[in-house]
Amino acid sequence: MKLLIDKLFKNHELDSDEYLKLLQKMNHQDVEYLYQQSCKTKAMHYGDTVFMRGLVEFTNYCKQNCEYCGIRAGNKKAERYRLSQDEIINICKMGYSLGFRTFVLQGGEDDSYTDEKMVAIIKSIKAAFNDCAITLSIGEKSRETYQKYFDAGADRYLLRHETASKELYQKLHPKMSFENRVRCLYDLKEIGFQVGAGFMVGLPGQTDNDLVQDLLFLKQLQPQMVGIGPFIPHVDTALGMEKAGTVDKTLIMIAMVRLILPDALLPSTTALGTIDPKGREKGLLAGANVVMPNLSPTEVRSKYSLYDGKICTSDDATKCLKCIGQRIKSVGYSVDMSRGDHAEWRK
Ligand code: SAH
Repeated sequence: MKLLIDKLFKNHELDSDEYLKLLQKMNHQDVEYLYQQSCKTKAMHYGDTVFMRGLVEFTNYCKQNCEYCGIRAGNKKAERYRLSQDEIINICKMGYSLGFRTFVLQGGEDDSYTDEKMVAIIKSIKAAFNDCAITLSIGEKSRETYQKYFDAGADRYLLRHETASKELYQKLHPKMSFENRVRCLYDLKEIGFQVGAGFMVGLPGQTDNDLVQDLLFLKQLQPQMVGIGPFIPHVDTALGMEKAGTVDKTLIMIAMVRLILPDALLPSTTALGTIDPKGREKGLLAGANVVMPNLSPTEVRSKYSLYDGKICTSDDATKCLKCIGQRIKSVGYSVDMSRGDHAEWRK
């Protein structure tokens, strides 16, 4: 196993049988070695810094029906909200004064934010804080729409591929298509965004082979960011009684992605912190180098309920920042509040 890990460390690539072998045959010591190598790789590119992003969950209206997601259109129990342009700007203002220089605007696929509205929001944030990066995470759009966001000043776009197994993707997204998801990711790259893909670990029906597909897919796409988190059931969805993904498997996937894409920006996700009180610290120790404290107003936080038990729904932004800062330092890393662009954008 160590030889395989060394090979991955050196070549940033294995074949599918080798990935599968690692996933299925590593013992505790092998896994520790994997983390050692992934942290070494991270240090070569980022030293001991962890980047902070301010997350603004600005709408939980969604026209899609992803089977796992608590804000899916079909969940009639979800209490819906959306924030106005002024509210969003005020949150960024507060975040800016706390030191944030990246704002991640995330939401369901909510057509009430027309292209014109989104462009106005992006432009107004950029006009007020020209040293900030804007990351959007609002799902699948046409290439023209992505281009408008980019021209208005958006810098990055997060769109997890969710799973690279086409069959599993179709099961979990009955009215969506894997091809369109992939089309979106390649359009975003071509337009010039720093692009984030990513997937869930432990999805109902997901096999180790499916996870290998995720690794191969990421190698091919070469995204700048990769969000990896455990699946967590949401009580008001059909998958509400399913088992959640495990911390251990999620950490192994983070470490392997770090070795495959050495300079990628990898968040230690809220979902990881939800299934384990020390999940985010463990994510950093497995190779992650980004955290995304929540800046959303406390009144709406519990409504942005993607899965059960989501953490950080009551503390305000100042508290969240402090708490996360302490967690980062507790595992020997230091907080970096700068824009934290991907290396290719810092040249
Ligand atoms: N509408 C946007 C944002 C989706 S929410 C988009 O399509 O990209 C952000 C991420 O939360 C999703 O990409 C998904 O990977 C994750 N998520 C949703 N439901 C989840 C669940 N039940 N457990 C864990 N992660 C979940």
